Amino acid sequence: MPLLQYDIEEPSKAGALSALLCSWYDIKKRDLVWRQTQDPYSIWVSEIMAQQTRITAVLPYYIRFMEHFPTIQDLANAPADDVLKAWEGLGYYSRAHNLLKTAQIVVNDYNGKFPTDIRLIKKLPGIGDYTAGAIASICFHQPEPAVDGNVLRVFARLYDSSLNISEASTKKLLTVFLRTIIPTDKPGIFNQALMELGALVCVPKNPSCPVCPVRTLCKAYEQGKQNQLPVKSAKKDVKQLDITVLLIKNAKDQILMRQRNEKLLNGLWEFYMVDQALDTAGAKKRVQGLGYTVTDIVSVGKATHRFTHIQWNMNGYQCEIEGGKPPSLTGYEFMPIEELQRLAIPVAVQFYKDWLIGSGATQVALEDLLSVHGLFNSSRPTG
Ligand code: SF4
Repeated sequence: MPLLQYDIEEPSKAGALSALLCSWYDIKKRDLVWRQTQDPYSIWVSEIMAQQTRITAVLPYYIRFMEHFPTIQDLANAPADDVLKAWEGLGYYSRAHNLLKTAQIVVNDYNGKFPTDIRLIKKLPGIGDYTAGAIASICFHQPEPAVDGNVLRVFARLYDSSLNISEASTKKLLTVFLRTIIPTDKPGIFNQALMELGALVCVPKNPSCPVCPVRTLCKAYEQGKQNQLPVKSAKKDVKQLDITVLLIKNAKDQILMRQRNEKLLNGLWEFYMVDQALDTAGAKKRVQGLGYTVTDIVSVGKATHRFTHIQWNMNGYQCEIEGGKPPSLTGYEFMPIEELQRLAIPVAVQFYKDWLIGSGATQVALEDLLSVHGLFNSSRPTG
């Protein structure tokens, strides 16, 4: 009977767990900017940004995004290109598309105010059970669980559960269980305390059990099994894809660009790219095949970028060509190099953009923003 793996033997344990967690959170929580508000717009943006990205990496992006779009109305009225640009660097760009769609629905259908009914919140694009639970509990004080990977890991250890946390059924069981123990007087604090414990103490590898506020209740700690749990499925193999990036520059110093319409990186701008590893001669031949005369070609270097299930192994060349007309390929156009600063360009090919601009300006701008807010951190998310 799997549910028993999360059962609490003594009724007092649920109360003790909640009390210990919430007191610890009160003292130890990080002073994050979105924790100073219960405004649903701010909480929603922060939760979407924090998915699959470390909080410390999210902070500068969050500040920049909220400066661009201080209200949900500002976001709803923004062009998609502006939203993608503000999201640039965070990766998982479908989240940015969904943010825009949800903002438009909230403004048009709910008069600019987030619905409070969790069933309606879950119907908004890009909002799943976890985010809906976070918004409902933090902003509207509803006893709704918010179960993410951190919470699944913490409970697998607390209750010495051998359930596979990669399975949707495990998440459902834990959600049902949490509904029975979530404190109705402070559901938002309880959920945030659990997330914080998973992020700071009960981390995936080598959890800091000696300083854990709930170690006296933890079965895994009692049995020395904390590093064996949770049980999860092995990661799928990452597909390797060889790509040649061609920075095709015409006599007017313009670069051939295309706005992607594929599901991956939809709406972002990229250079002319070929799904094949080409040497210099092959790259030159490819550009000539577009109808151009190549006057010079230089190797720019290699870069790799890993998405969730695929890795791009890129090799780049800059090709100087005569003439300036775009090839007869749908979606391509020549753009002045300065325009690259305005366009939303995937992190994956940022190396080539910086090479063209020659200044690493994106990173500098980000670090400037961090310094202004006293938040400089050299590590950055992938995406
Ligand atoms: Fe996690 Fe260790 Fe705390 Fe148990 S005692 S909840 S394993 S940090």
